[in-house]
Formats: sequence, C-alpha cells, structure tokens
Amino acid sequence: MTAETRRGKTAPPEVAPNIARLVPYSPGKPIEEVERELGISDVVKLASNENALGPSPRAVAAMREAASRMSIYPDADSVLLREALGSFLGVPPASILLGNGSDDIIHLLGVTFLQPGDEVIQAHPSFVRYEAAALLNGAKCHLVPLNSAWEHDLDAMAERVNPCTRLVFLCNPNNPTGAIVRKEPLERFLNALPERVIAVMDEAYYEYASPAPDYPQTIAYTQERNVVVLRTFSKAYGLAGLRVGYGVMRPEIAGWLNRTREPFNVNYMAQIAAFAAIDDVEHVARSVAMNEEGKRAICAGLESLGLCCAPTYANFVWVDAGKPARALFDGLLRKGVIVRTGDPFGAPTHLRITIGTADQNERMLRALADVLPTL
Ligand code: PMP
Repeated sequence: MTAETRRGKTAPPEVAPNIARLVPYSPGKPIEEVERELGISDVVKLASNENALGPSPRAVAAMREAASRMSIYPDADSVLLREALGSFLGVPPASILLGNGSDDIIHLLGVTFLQPGDEVIQAHPSFVRYEAAALLNGAKCHLVPLNSAWEHDLDAMAERVNPCTRLVFLCNPNNPTGAIVRKEPLERFLNALPERVIAVMDEAYYEYASPAPDYPQTIAYTQERNVVVLRTFSKAYGLAGLRVGYGVMRPEIAGWLNRTREPFNVNYMAQIAAFAAIDDVEHVARSVAMNEEGKRAICAGLESLGLCCAPTYANFVWVDAGKPARALFDGLLRKGVIVRTGDPFGAPTHLRITIGTADQNERMLRALADVLPTL
C-alpha cells in the first residue's frame, strides 16, 4: 500500500475542542506572492506595520560581524541583552524576559497563567493574538467593543472583571486603530483592578506614541504591581524578520514565564542585532520622524479623496473608505499596493494602511484615487 492510499483511509487525529476553535493567524500578504500571482514587480507592502526605513544600520553591521559565529547556540538567558535593556529602561535585568517576538510573550502569558475556567479581557477590535492565547488554554476571552472614537472603553472593560479574571490586555497604541489609552484613565483603571489580575500593556508601537504628552510611561508600574509591559524590536527598530521582543515585569512573573518558555527562544543573530540596535537612537528618531511626515501626507491625501482617518499614534492609519474593503484591497493589489482590510476586525469598510516612505505613501494614495471611483 502506498503512503497516499494509507493517508486516504486513515482518519485524521482528533484535537481538543479548544484547539479546534483556534483560527490560524492571517499575516499581511507577502510581496513575493503578489508579484508571482499578478506577474508584476515593484510591489509596495503597507500591510504589516513594518519599518519602511529598514533595520537599524548598527544592527546590520553587528550581524555581519557575527555571521561566522552562528554555529554556536545562543545564550539561553539572553544575559547581555537583558542587562543592556535593563540599563536602557532603568529596571533590573531580572525584570526583563526576551521573546521570539512579543508574540511569544503573549503566548507564554497564556500558557503560564491561564487554565480552563479562567477569563481574559481585551478590547475589540484589537490585536488578535490575545484571544488566541486565551482559547489555546481553555480560557474565555471577553471582547469589549471600542467606543465610537475607536478607543478602549475602560469602564466597560472594568465591568467585565470578576473573580475568574486573570489577564487584561491593553493594546497601546491599539492595533488596528492607532488610538491610545491616556495616562489618567489608565491609572484609574489600574487602581481599580484587583491586585492579582495581570494587566498586560502591549506597547509594540511605543516609540511612535511615546512623544505624545498624555501617553502613559508604564515601565515604573511594572515594579510596583502586576503589570507586564510588552515592547518589540519589530517596529521602530526595523528588525521584524529576526523575531525579538521583550516583556518588562516584576521578577516573580518573569520567573514563571521562564519555566514555560523554550530554552533558546531568542536566536543568536536576534540577540546580537537587538543589542546593537538599543543604542541606535538615531535610527529610531529617523523612523519616528519619517512616520510623522508620512502620517501628515497620508491624512491630507485621504482627506482630499473625501476620506477621514482616525487620529493615529502608531505607524499605520485606520481609515473608513466607505466602500467594501475587500474590493478596495483587490483593486489596490492589482496596482501593486498591499494593505489590510478591516473585515477580520468586524469593520468591513475600513482599511489599515502602514505608513511607509514618502514614495510608497504617494503610490498608495494614487492607487486609492484610481480604485475608489470604480467601486
Ligand atoms: N502586539 C501588537 C499590537 C502588534 O501589532 C504586533 C505585531 N503585529 C505584535 C504585538 C507582535 O510583534 P512581534 O511579535 O513582531 O514583536
């Protein structure tokens, strides 16, 4: 009997109901795939909130230098990187946990702190991996709608807290909307939260939002209470391909996560690059400045098309195009521009568009101007 016929007859393995409910992550469409499918080149991807300026040059130089050492395992505890981050942030290295992207830490928080019957609270729409972490571990996830300004409704989230609540995720700035939770309401919310509940502040877009005066600086909270702050090298540092993110938390929480993470969860090249990138304040500043300029250009361009984008504190805009987003997505794709649609977030006429270089933004606006009247 061939392997083919055996496969045909054998029943697939059963999975637990909590696994069966999971939905695979749907990433932004890769450039190569679009170029192959449509037979076009020079595709612009504004779909995954990557840094259009590229990686930190210091990180690139450090990686080149380190390439010949890749036959050895990475430091399983990322000691040098945790020390460097500790002094950068002003916290002890024991408060820092490195992850294979901040995605890894979201996953680890679920594995470590959730069991069937537990509950998680998050805003909706927001980053999809929080619910995945809850469902994977048999926990219930409360999706609390954003308010009409696309901001977290902290009062409604507080109402969902009960004795089963273990984790509350606050995505700040929020993906996909770009809105922030401001300092004062956040502090009120945290003060009212039962001490045993872990508040997870997902600050993947921190560097873009941080200059705003009412954006909360949350690292200090991690030393006083059960708050975990997540940040990443994937966005402003331009290292998304390497997968390196981190959490800041009290050492006791890091201790538990250390038991559930894989020993070598951050690869050697990623540790080298992130270590070099921390000091590259110039690259981060250039990235943030380019983003600010791009934001102004895109918002002005959208306005001239009769569209209005919500205020954004991140490296993407959330825009109600007033037309079916799927059709817009297809039209833009044919013009070589990849964006994200709002339908997975329950917003079928919205697009989430990453802010790119001046040229990329212009190209996207031109494509949108061509496609909109056709729908
Ligand atoms: N949180 C948010 C809000 C995000 O948008 C992303 C990336 N899309 C992540 C976490 C994960 O980032 P990474 O794993 O690359 O650090």
